[in-house]
Amino acid sequence: MYDILIAGGGAAGLCAAVYSARAMLSYVVCDSGAGGAAVSAERIDNYLGIFGNNETGTEQTAELNSIGSPSASPDLNARSVIERKETAMKQRAKRNAGGGSPHGFELYEKFRKHAELFGAEILTRGITRIETVPNGFLTRFTDGGEMLSKTVIYALGSTPRKLGAEGENLQGVSYCASCDGAFYKNKVVAVIGGGDTALSEALYLSRTAARVYLIHRRGEFRAAPSLTAQVKATANIELVLNASLVKILGKNTVSGVELSINGKGEKLITDGVFAAIGSVPNTDAVKDIVSLDERGYIIADESGKTSLAGFFAAGDVRTKPFRQIITACADGAYCVRSAEDYLNFR
Ligand SMILES: Cc1cc2nc3c(=O)[nH]c(=O)nc-3n(C[C@H](O)[C@H](O)[C@H](O)COP(=O)(O)OP(=O)(O)OC[C@H]3O[C@@H](n4cnc5c(N)ncnc54)[C@H](O)[C@@H]3O)c2cc1C
Repeated sequence: MYDILIAGGGAAGLCAAVYSARAMLSYVVCDSGAGGAAVSAERIDNYLGIFGNNETGTEQTAELNSIGSPSASPDLNARSVIERKETAMKQRAKRNAGGGSPHGFELYEKFRKHAELFGAEILTRGITRIETVPNGFLTRFTDGGEMLSKTVIYALGSTPRKLGAEGENLQGVSYCASCDGAFYKNKVVAVIGGGDTALSEALYLSRTAARVYLIHRRGEFRAAPSLTAQVKATANIELVLNASLVKILGKNTVSGVELSINGKGEKLITDGVFAAIGSVPNTDAVKDIVSLDERGYIIADESGKTSLAGFFAAGDVRTKPFRQIITACADGAYCVRSAEDYLNFR
């Protein structure tokens, strides 16, 4: 029986694996193989220490530290050292401004390699259900198998929300611009949504598509002001505000969208539709054993503790104000700490 079964091999799960290894606990990571939320992100530039031209934080630090070190010119006084460091930082920032930060997939590969290097056993197994049993948990898999563990760290992330509109099953409806955007070179696409993801998707598509309609049901965006400003300054993004989607048009493939704009019907001709209206937490497997909030997220505190002793939740799947890679990693670390305490004192 494992000490910990880590459900999900995304940012939270893999970070939990590294911390479990360091804590010398027996553990296993079970992941369906679908990949974490950010594997499709074109560029991740807010994960601390990993930025620009695939260099690692260690290499970057080494380069900056060499300035002013004994091997550097001995006649440098303290002030010129600081100036040189500042100049180096500025030069690097300039280089990276062009977009050298890692692709989401690349960053996740680094996470996986790190966990494997620490001895993580990562199994490709989809989880269907987790049940409580005396002294622990029983996890059931899509292949019919099952596994026992003393604790569970649950980190299955979330899935993009469906539009729920007629025509959503047509070919040409996508939930990931960086996965499918290349198919729309010089074509017209619509992005539905008004948050960070929708605006990022619109910007991404604007680089290849001829025109991007950004369709939002309100008059203002919920996205970060910097993103909103970028979108507004992009010539081939056309804002369609106060507009709700009535249906997606087309026979087999998308040919357009029917909207209701301020209550008036309107049709736009498009080759593709990208849905970006949020996501649903992957809590089906545990909805009967642990408390969820009204939106289906697992109620957990900062240490990952949930309503169920020995069951911890990490990452996008739990209640929290800010869902990011770095916060998911922090959750993974916290959960291992909590699991350790639980195993020691139960
Ligand atoms: C398009 C996009 C761009 C983003 N860009 C950024 C960014 O630039 N910076 C940033 O910090 N954050 C970004 N995010 C948010 C970030 O991706 C998430 O906050 C983070 O990945 C959450 O980590 P997690 O471990 O909770 O979930 P995930 O990383 O999504 O991992 C969940 C894992 O669970 C597995 N899984 C799911 N269901 C099952 C099952 N039934 N059985 C077994 N395994 C299962 C999946 O295969 C996956 O590996 C972005 C998200 C999206 C969608």
